[in-house]
Amino acid sequence: MDSKKQRFLRARAELARLEGLRDAIEEPFRKQMRMATQRMKAALEAASDELADAEDDCPVHLGQCETCLTPLFAGDEGSHFSDDGWLFCAEHSPTYAYLLACWEQEGADDWESESSFQDWLLRGQGLRAHDPQSKYVYVLG
Ligand SMILES: [Zn+2]
Repeated sequence: MDSKKQRFLRARAELARLEGLRDAIEEPFRKQMRMATQRMKAALEAASDELADAEDDCPVHLGQCETCLTPLFAGDEGSHFSDDGWLFCAEHSPTYAYLLACWEQEGADDWESESSFQDWLLRGQGLRAHDPQSKYVYVLG
């Protein structure tokens, strides 16, 4: 056999030998990875099923308080400002004084009159008109 054919056969045999070594080294890791992947898949499916069940029994999740990150659900007390999407728990909802100051500084053009703004403000159940420290809070829907 000429040397070119022998060189080709030697190179092919060496490649096959190295691939066999590689497979022998990798196989235990592949087996561990398959087993871990199967366990993780089962855990993920169980967690997903639990979330779906919990979601069915739970009021609508609206988001979280912008200040303290407390999760807020339909039926909780707080405030929601649809223009910017901000949501606040009862504790961190703005006060009458703060909202009035905002209205006076920049929001007056959006309201027909101060009385319509006052009507909107009084939607907050805890809000007492002209009590600067009362909170703009209502039952979130
Ligand atoms: Zn909060």
